[in-house]
Amino acid sequence: MRTSDPTGTPPSASTVQTLRAAVNGPVHRAGEHSYDTARLGWRRTIDPYPALVVEAANAQDVQAAVRFARDRALPLAVQATGHGTISSCDGGLLLKTTRMATVQIHADRHTARVGGGAVWGAVVAAAAPSGLAPLSGTAASVGVTGSTLGGGVGWLSRRYGFAADSLLAARIVTADGQLLTASPKEHPELFWALRGGGGNFGVVTALTFRLYPVDRVYGGTVVFNMDCAEKALACYRDWALTEPDWRRCGRPLGRRWWTGWGRCGLPIRPPSLGRRPHRRPRTPASSCSGSYPTR
Ligand SMILES: Cc1cc2nc3c(=O)[nH]c(=O)nc-3n(C[C@H](O)[C@H](O)[C@H](O)COP(=O)(O)OP(=O)(O)OC[C@H]3O[C@@H](n4cnc5c(N)ncnc54)[C@H](O)[C@@H]3O)c2cc1C
Repeated sequence: MRTSDPTGTPPSASTVQTLRAAVNGPVHRAGEHSYDTARLGWRRTIDPYPALVVEAANAQDVQAAVRFARDRALPLAVQATGHGTISSCDGGLLLKTTRMATVQIHADRHTARVGGGAVWGAVVAAAAPSGLAPLSGTAASVGVTGSTLGGGVGWLSRRYGFAADSLLAARIVTADGQLLTASPKEHPELFWALRGGGGNFGVVTALTFRLYPVDRVYGGTVVFNMDCAEKALACYRDWALTEPDWRRCGRPLGRRWWTGWGRCGLPIRPPSLGRRPHRRPRTPASSCSGSYPTR
């Protein structure tokens, strides 16, 4: 584990103290015990060495960190989970929103309001007891904000669209440190840009988006050996042609060929490869699937 800062002179103790006094969340700098854990995200192929890592606890922390970086001309990067991080922020300020992970479900309005660091799994879990679901992606640990700002394709997308389409409003700190609401009525051009423009327009502190009725899902994974790929794929193709356009399932290919029906969002039973296949190409190498009520 490296704990030294390879990017140059570390920020002085008084500089760090200034930042610490301005925020509620923890601040980490190179050489400190907590720095190596704080600087790393989910994608371990990225080995970043920011000068400072700020774990924002609230929107005011985000404002303070943005102003601090701006006043010192420090590069600034935002990270919730690190699933989408593709470059490091060496020598800059890494602003983590991971702690801002609140999830509020408004079942009567079919909406959710989440903090900028919330992950899809937490939203799915909170919405399910009300028979509702967000337009989440396939992985529970992916951040709501990063995927929504980039578009967001998920199990329900063929029926309801991208996650960005379900966005109703965002609280966002812009580069000048202002905290704004972007919605169809407030700062509509910023709102337009957020829905697909990625993290280029500010640091999101909260999102409000639509939820959709889902009261039963068919989920699981069926794994096939590669030597039956041809038959299984042909079977899958024939079955897929009989299904409505809005239905979605996954069909990844790997060293061991496999096909999966993760949380498809609606009650389906793939006839050929599912739990009770009527025409399966070959016994699956393993199977775990079923139909589940969400509440
Ligand atoms: C295992 C895995 C499964 C995936 N599955 C899907 C899927 O099913 N559907 C899909 O559409 N995508 C999927 N993705 C892609 C994923 O949606 C993007 O990588 C997304 O950017 C991850 O967001 P994050 O917040 O988790 O990641 P982070 O690395 O934390 O953030 C990625 C980028 O999002 C922006 N960002 C994050 N938080 C904020 C914020 N608070 N304010 C402003 N900008 C911010 C920043 O530009 C940041 O660099 C998957 C990725 C992985 C690794």
